[in-house]
Amino acid sequence: MKEKHGSLSITSENIFPVIKKWLYSDHDIFLRELVSNACDAITKLKKLDAMGEFSIPAGYKPEVHIIFDSEKKTLTISDNGIGMTEDEVEKYINQIAFSGATDFLTKFKDKGDQDQIIGHFGLGFYSAFMVADLVTIDSLSYQDGAKAVHWECDGGTDFSMKDGERDHFGTTITLHLNEDCLEFCNEYRVRELINKYCSFMPTPIYLEKANAETEYEEINPDDKRDDDTVIETVHHDAKTHEKKNDDGSTEVVEDEPAKDMLKIVKRPVALNDTNPLWMKTPSECTDEEYKTFYRKVFNDYKEPLFWIHLNMDYPFNLKGILYFPKINSEYDSIEGTIKLYNNQVFVADNIKEVIPEFLMLLKGVIDCPDLPLNVSRSALQNDGFVKKISDYITKKVADKLSGLCKTDRESYEKYWDDISPFIKYGCLKDDKFCDKMNDYILFKDIYDKYTTLPDLLKKEEKPEDATEEKKDENTASDSEQNAAPEEEKDTRKSIYYVTDLLQQSQYIQLFKEQKQNAVILDKVIDTSFISQLEQRNPDYKFLRIDADLTDSLVENDGADLKADTDTLSEIFKKAIANDKLTINVMKIKNKDTAAILNVSEEMRRMQDMMKMYSMNGSGMDASMFAAPETLVLNDDHELVRYIIDHKDSDLALDFAKQIYDMAKLANAPLDANQMTEFLKRSNKIMLALANK
Ligand code: ADP
Repeated sequence: MKEKHGSLSITSENIFPVIKKWLYSDHDIFLRELVSNACDAITKLKKLDAMGEFSIPAGYKPEVHIIFDSEKKTLTISDNGIGMTEDEVEKYINQIAFSGATDFLTKFKDKGDQDQIIGHFGLGFYSAFMVADLVTIDSLSYQDGAKAVHWECDGGTDFSMKDGERDHFGTTITLHLNEDCLEFCNEYRVRELINKYCSFMPTPIYLEKANAETEYEEINPDDKRDDDTVIETVHHDAKTHEKKNDDGSTEVVEDEPAKDMLKIVKRPVALNDTNPLWMKTPSECTDEEYKTFYRKVFNDYKEPLFWIHLNMDYPFNLKGILYFPKINSEYDSIEGTIKLYNNQVFVADNIKEVIPEFLMLLKGVIDCPDLPLNVSRSALQNDGFVKKISDYITKKVADKLSGLCKTDRESYEKYWDDISPFIKYGCLKDDKFCDKMNDYILFKDIYDKYTTLPDLLKKEEKPEDATEEKKDENTASDSEQNAAPEEEKDTRKSIYYVTDLLQQSQYIQLFKEQKQNAVILDKVIDTSFISQLEQRNPDYKFLRIDADLTDSLVENDGADLKADTDTLSEIFKKAIANDKLTINVMKIKNKDTAAILNVSEEMRRMQDMMKMYSMNGSGMDASMFAAPETLVLNDDHELVRYIIDHKDSDLALDFAKQIYDMAKLANAPLDANQMTEFLKRSNKIMLALANK
């Protein structure tokens, strides 16, 4: 070839400084681009062979070598793939690859960093100039009679091409690293990058030091492989030791027999796994393999709870494994990693445009060759195809979970506490997921059993409950001070819940006595989760166990309680200065309970919200939003009867205060002033009794 010099047809003066600046944040991707090009070149060669267009020579081993040379400050990537002819270098490198880079710039130069493209695929080869001042290509095409070609470009706009010296097909790309990027000829750094980007590329990748001394190893002759380079046979004498017998004589015992070993050139070890687990059919993989893969990829030595192997060919190609990690406590920050691959080439972690947000709490790998990765992130977000992928992943996860609930309820219950944060978060973030999961969300109840929503609601539907409800309506209309009118019309079924087992133990006790059920919702996420369920399902509501006295805890003997209610209201209003307090008189089945405090569910939730805001420094005062309370007095209780019978006495007033404070105590801690008052009054009442 006549030595050729040319100018790369460009639109800007010098494109490379711009590329460097542009991709500065992750310029290490150059290695991915060059190594994946090398793997592609090998795949192409194999395809030609399969098509009968080329016959791969015997003993051919596809391999990519990455050679670092810290003296020469170079990094070399060499493959034995398809190679390129002079024309091909001209076409693919001088014209196409370059126009790819130019396209990239025109497309993205006006956008800020926040819209960083992912993948940078298509920029490919030219990403080498992010780290190198001078790049050379030495290539020999697989084609018969092809001539080796040498290409060189110093990162300006000019290149030169001449005959090369490569004598076997394939391509070698050498980067003469610029002074800022010398890290890329450091063994550890390069190894790290190979692990990051090339761990699962489909061709064996070897890392080597330039001009390294040959290393040797010894193997058993039986283990010799055809491609081993044998240097010599090494004889090892038998290993023996002298043993003393009981009779004082000695004998020589052989520990290891004599053997002949082969000294060979150390076999290189590929750094990557060319056939990653996700590429296999799920039925071929064992649990142990899934666990090992998890440990290796995520460096997490806690075992995953379980996993979902995604494997789809139609209507798009998608493979992957999603693991549900084990979390230790609610306060463990749940931080997942979903690694995205494109044909075994690592693209990036946690790309929220492709992976549904809530699944980012999981750990896993997704390989989707069909993804349009050379577009910007915002374009991905609006891409219908990407949305389909994301929907598919969500659907698969929901299917797996519901399947597990249906077919292996025992394991599902065992995992539940660990996986529920993912599921609840998923329900909050994704309506479709919520729909699919609706019947498979478990609730732990006060009897330590897990139940689903349909089961909970079925129990609520028992016919006797329905009649009780009617009766209650009658009682309610008897009492003027009863619940607000809109609550009377509420026909939603109630699901009672507990947020604090200790704090609400009095209520739980009452529920248990009457064989009533309540579920435990004590996680931070539960508050938002139940409001979400209520919004989507108008036929039930969640009531905290202290929100309301459920019908079954109350005796309905038809007695008229109006007179007692009036009397007690008068005394309690006098004793307790709280205009948010309503007095309700009922016959509570549990005879030891004098009073129960109920706090309106809606108002309490609102108050909780306000508390959160005021804590966040909004300046709002939570006390302004104190929730209305209902003090339910047990008409059958002796103390209550005493108050009715001694309504004008001072002691009755003290009793009223005391009963209120005790009911409050069973519901929430008293504040400092209330506590002081309560203790003082307790003493006073005891003294009154002692002096009697
Ligand atoms: P892309 O890989 O996205 O096509 P690149 O800029 O990385 O873009 O490469 C441009 C073209 O150069 C490739 O499509 C391929 O034809 C050729 N090429 C690059 N590297 C090699 C290689 N190692 N062996 C053979 N051909 C190569």
